[in-house]
Amino acid sequence: MIISKQKDKKDLLEALADLQRLFLVGCAACATACKAGGEEEVFLMQEWLTTEGKDVTGSVVIDESCHIMRAARDLRQHRQQIEEADALLVLACGAGIQSISNSTEKRVVGGLDSLFLGNIRRFGQYEEKCSLCGDCILNETAGICPVTNCAKGLLNGPCGGMEEGKCEADREIDCAWSLIFERLKKQGRKGVFDRTVAPKKWARSGKPGRHKIKP
Ligand code: SF4
Ligand code: SF4
Repeated sequence: MIISKQKDKKDLLEALADLQRLFLVGCAACATACKAGGEEEVFLMQEWLTTEGKDVTGSVVIDESCHIMRAARDLRQHRQQIEEADALLVLACGAGIQSISNSTEKRVVGGLDSLFLGNIRRFGQYEEKCSLCGDCILNETAGICPVTNCAKGLLNGPCGGMEEGKCEADREIDCAWSLIFERLKKQGRKGVFDRTVAPKKWARSGKPGRHKIKP
């Protein structure tokens, strides 16, 4: 799930300074789960904008705002309200904001900051486990990602700063490489410690990412 949070209200007001009439767009998927851009947050945003002297011409919460065709279809159903607005204020992740930008000639203002791809510990508690590097080595690291969980993203750890299993960047946090070592030991295999890992093939994470499933 994409973890996002609402922009600071002061920053948002600055971004909206020269805009009077706004159409609001939320997202019913990740942004709703993060309590950043669902029905409730769109409603609260509308109330806040009104107290700040802005006019809201309408709103919609799209099922998945990153779905380019669906976003375009849903916006078409609000053509008149969008026409009346100076801009669209989008409460969705960066992917969602760009779907909306692709679907309108109007100015689009993003109301959220996208943080990371998150695992869910429990509602409202998210943890980054994968940085989408495109060249996964989890099979050799007993399912623990050093790219994301090691403070230095080392591929051949641990570094010299590890102390009693804790990371030198933050002594409260376990060293990812210590965790990898312990788990591999329990599994009775050397895994990644059997070799020196070559520098990562970052070309595989090629930006912008494209992936087409073959029929
Ligand atoms: S190695 Fe790369 S793809 Fe695999 S979990 Fe880590 S960041 Fe994600
Ligand atoms: S102590 Fe471990 S987790 Fe921290 S930077 Fe060094 S290798 Fe990475």
